[in-house]
Amino acid sequence: MSPDLATDGGPTLLKLETAQNTGAFKIRGAANKMLSLSDADRARGVACVSTGNHGRAVAHMGRALGIRVVVCLSELVPNNKRAAIEALGAEVHIAGRGQDDAMAHADKLVADEGLVLVPPFDDPLIIAGQGTIGLEIIEDAPEVNRVVVPLSGGGLLAGVALAAKGVDPQIRTVGVSAERAPGMLESLRAGRPVDIPEEKSLADSLGGGIGQDNRYTMAMVDRLVDEHAVVSEQDIARAMTFAFRHHGLVLEGAAAVGIAALLANKLAPCTGTTAVVVSGKNIDPDDFLAIVTSLEP
Ligand SMILES: *Cc1c(COP(=O)(O)O)cnc(C)c1O
Repeated sequence: MSPDLATDGGPTLLKLETAQNTGAFKIRGAANKMLSLSDADRARGVACVSTGNHGRAVAHMGRALGIRVVVCLSELVPNNKRAAIEALGAEVHIAGRGQDDAMAHADKLVADEGLVLVPPFDDPLIIAGQGTIGLEIIEDAPEVNRVVVPLSGGGLLAGVALAAKGVDPQIRTVGVSAERAPGMLESLRAGRPVDIPEEKSLADSLGGGIGQDNRYTMAMVDRLVDEHAVVSEQDIARAMTFAFRHHGLVLEGAAAVGIAALLANKLAPCTGTTAVVVSGKNIDPDDFLAIVTSLEP
């Protein structure tokens, strides 16, 4: 909790998914999905496409369950994320300039080698796994009035919003997108999935579109989310610096967007308690140091 992050006098709670095994919340959905695979599917092996953290979670579960894992990454995925996936014994394929290219490669592996796809967000079992965060927030802090959640493909936000509103329909749900990764926002505006050019961002885990064949997360985010905010690269850098200086937290850019939205006053006023999902910590240590030492405190 942080006095500096207080909104209208209400406290702000941070839900620290940085403490998860594999360093990000993605282990929740990956575990739920992979534990539900049949023995026949486990024997075939799995493929996934990832900005890094989903692949690491799938690799971790593959090792735990004895399942072959192939992770398809684009060239934009940072080296530290690739190395962590390889260290878990998964095969890594680097395919193309962005998530769409990596997805096409994964689809080919599924067709050619009979691997089972473990989607990064648009899957009921993945959404349900990420949604356990919402249940835990309410269990720990039943007084919460608002939850603020990073947004990319929307598995995290859809799950958290469904769980939170399922328990308490009054809870206000807020999605925070990075300015350089507006895939879901543009899609909601257009009323259909929109492909966006993938740009380098501090929030590398938020990159990519929502998939042209999106079945679940777009409709759920549309229905369950009360407010959207967008943060700039500078907002994210400030939030990472703030979280480090005031809370001793090492956050990757994607995990800092909720704090960024609060610090930059980008959210509608809300009295009461706010919970912010802080989604992961998998940033290269040298990149992190460069960011948090380059700004004035
Ligand atoms: C994947 C990821 C997100 C976004 O999750 P979606 O389900 O794609 O919206 C946010 N933060 C981190 C650290 C992630 O790895």
